[in-house]
Amino acid sequence: MTEPSVILAVLAALAAIIALTLVAFRLRRARREFIQEVDAWKLRLDLDLQRARKERDLLLDALDEAFLLINRDARILFANRAAKEMFAGRSIIDRTIEDVLLERRLAAPVLECLETGENTIRRVVLRRSGDDERPGDSAWVVDAARISETPDDAPEFRVVFRDVSPEHQAEQIRKDFVANASHELRTPLAIINGYLENLLDDGLVSDPELTKRFLKVMRKHTERISRIVEDMLVISRLESGEAAALKLKPFKIRSCISDVLERLEAMIQAQKARVEIRMDDEDLVINGDRFYWTQVLFNLVENALKQNPRDGLRVTIGCHRRPDESIEIWVSDDGIGIPSTDLAHIFRRFYRVEKHHNQDQIKGTGLGLSIVKRAVEAHHGQIDVASTPGEDTRFTITLPPDAEVPPHPDAQNHDDSGAAASA
Ligand code: ATP
Ligand code: MG
Repeated sequence: MTEPSVILAVLAALAAIIALTLVAFRLRRARREFIQEVDAWKLRLDLDLQRARKERDLLLDALDEAFLLINRDARILFANRAAKEMFAGRSIIDRTIEDVLLERRLAAPVLECLETGENTIRRVVLRRSGDDERPGDSAWVVDAARISETPDDAPEFRVVFRDVSPEHQAEQIRKDFVANASHELRTPLAIINGYLENLLDDGLVSDPELTKRFLKVMRKHTERISRIVEDMLVISRLESGEAAALKLKPFKIRSCISDVLERLEAMIQAQKARVEIRMDDEDLVINGDRFYWTQVLFNLVENALKQNPRDGLRVTIGCHRRPDESIEIWVSDDGIGIPSTDLAHIFRRFYRVEKHHNQDQIKGTGLGLSIVKRAVEAHHGQIDVASTPGEDTRFTITLPPDAEVPPHPDAQNHDDSGAAASA
């Protein structure tokens, strides 16, 4: 080879090497840029995914119901805020439903759904152990359903636990009310019926003396039926929101107390009860529905007298304005009192401490305090009871400051307003 051709060959080789190096360099740069772009996409996807998850969590957290996502092994993959609260902050993620639900009856519908693949909705009522008091029950609707066919560890089922305890309790109270009301009405009706049968079927109506005696008994029981119906209507009025339509007017609480004592005068005399009124300010005026306040005070004082048919009972009715301007009204007596186990239930409809068997011994229906509580609450007040049997049984009503109003220019006229209580 001649010298110039060698030189040319070397130059060509050099040019090829340079060209290759350039291509390699470009390729490396392109690869780097590609990797960077892929990383950026990954990051963006991750961020999008995180945002989507966050949004999902926010939405599911906004649900009042406990919501779980689980896989086919019943393992919990997601729990919303309500679910975490339901499990009182215990760690539940990655644990199985059976593991975390101590109450088997709540887990059963979920397991059934996992097994059959069918949507399962079941209502479960949990009774409070050792306490058969209905308001303690809790009720749940368990709703489990399949959401996808995805394999592996993706959530496959969703479970919703809906707390329906308030509805359940309201339903129980309604059922109890109907049962109690029917029972209370059936008993006097049966008695009246019995007397009517005696008079008509057995021909006793020809005996005027006997007829008169029977009619008197029948009248007593008819009055009892009227009273029960009247009380139930008052409760139903107060419960149906008619409380908002209370006829609010300023009136002197002292005059209301006088009315009540006047109506109970015969009972007070018969029992030689000593009734004391304690008021710093006899002119204290409250803004309320006098009809209901008369019922409230009548029931409280009548209860004290009725539950203690002995001579010399001491009953105190007090009313004063507290330093924070709220008004306190109380009725206390030194009678037999209320056992502590009954105190919590005393305001329930038809609740009586003594469960009488003999109609003649029945002192009441157990609706009085129920009316008292609802009427006080309708006036935005609250009522509490404390009792040391034999010493002091005290019902204390607290009314917020705005229940008091400045004396009306003709407050005397207002004192006569409102119908007398039917109690
Ligand atoms: P009603 O008022 O409907 O005629 P009642 O007086 O039996 O019937 P409530 O006024 O609701 O019903 O009272 C419920 C129960 O609470 C009473 O049966 C009684 O056992 C108890 N109780 C209420 N006040 C007193 C009291 N001052 N002392 C002792 N027991 C009381
Ligand atoms: Mg009563």
